[in-house]
Amino acid sequence: MQKFAKYAVNISRGREHSEAAPQYRSDFQRDRDRVIHSSAFRRLEYKTQVFINHEGDLFRTRLTHSLEVAQVGRSVANALDLNVDLVEAICLAHDLGHTPFGHSGQDVLNECMLQHGTGFEHNLQSLRIVTQLEERYAEFDGLNLTFETLEGILKHCSLAKAAELGELGLRFINKQQPSLEAQLANIADELAYNFHDLDDGLRANVLKLDQLEEVEIIRVELARITTKYPHLTGRRLHKELVRHLINTTIYELIDNCRANLDKYQPESVEEVHLLPAIIQYSPESFARQRELKKFLHQNMYKHYTVMQLRYKAEQVVRSLFSAFMSESRLLPDQFQARIQVDGLARVVADYISGMTDRYAFRLYNRLFTVENV
Ligand code: MG
Repeated sequence: MQKFAKYAVNISRGREHSEAAPQYRSDFQRDRDRVIHSSAFRRLEYKTQVFINHEGDLFRTRLTHSLEVAQVGRSVANALDLNVDLVEAICLAHDLGHTPFGHSGQDVLNECMLQHGTGFEHNLQSLRIVTQLEERYAEFDGLNLTFETLEGILKHCSLAKAAELGELGLRFINKQQPSLEAQLANIADELAYNFHDLDDGLRANVLKLDQLEEVEIIRVELARITTKYPHLTGRRLHKELVRHLINTTIYELIDNCRANLDKYQPESVEEVHLLPAIIQYSPESFARQRELKKFLHQNMYKHYTVMQLRYKAEQVVRSLFSAFMSESRLLPDQFQARIQVDGLARVVADYISGMTDRYAFRLYNRLFTVENV
């Protein structure tokens, strides 16, 4: 049995539809298992993180990203005696609502939806999937996850939206923190993507090691590695670098969280909600992470090879959206059936955001190319 600190989530506040307690696992292990068995989770395998899935077999996808987030989350949760199973459930579910084609897909779908009064936000979509869209249980829609897992999935939310979400939206209205497990899943996401995007950028030759030396944390780690292994070059040096960066950052995060826990001494989960965020980097590590992020923005996410993919993705999402909006009978039957209840734009957003990259490409070709005619 895992040992929990008094500030960790130990017992769930419950689920929307009451169910008998699981026999051989905790409520949060049950949540994690439900996420893993969901259709939305399997589709993450074919959704882009930065590089389009079929551009290379070795790049991250949303699925491998989610697994890496869960790994970082578990390591830190263990060190702080938080509820590891809850952290894992949140981390694995955090990107379920992501569109195909990474951030470009999300940005375009958001633009399209804004013209219909509401935007598109992937963490609200993740919540929609686990509370409504998954159809696999006889007694309820969605996965009927615990309140705590849902709280973690809903990272941020506008006040207007929070007001519609009942108990789940209250912390945004009251300006309170979520559980430490939810705080951790959020930071683990960012930590994982900064370093794996760097790793993928080096592999794709979009970034070069010598160019990276302008970033402080990279310069420091490279100096450490080359002092120990002066002859290391190429792929092995790049891999050592990424490994060292992840390790050092996780250690710094754990140290700072321990210092915050010492400072605030939370005695319970309830107290955690009223305190400032505890799972945070120190101001110095935060500044170093921000420098890396800025570097990645300028040199990787804006690199012309990434921009070309982004351009293509935007055309695909925009074209599919307008096609379905102008002719709803192009939608599969099960989506047409929901238009009455959810409205056409929301149903189209559900359909498009659920697509994998290759499904979206295939459908685009089916609707817009004339090759086979
Ligand atoms: Mg993520």
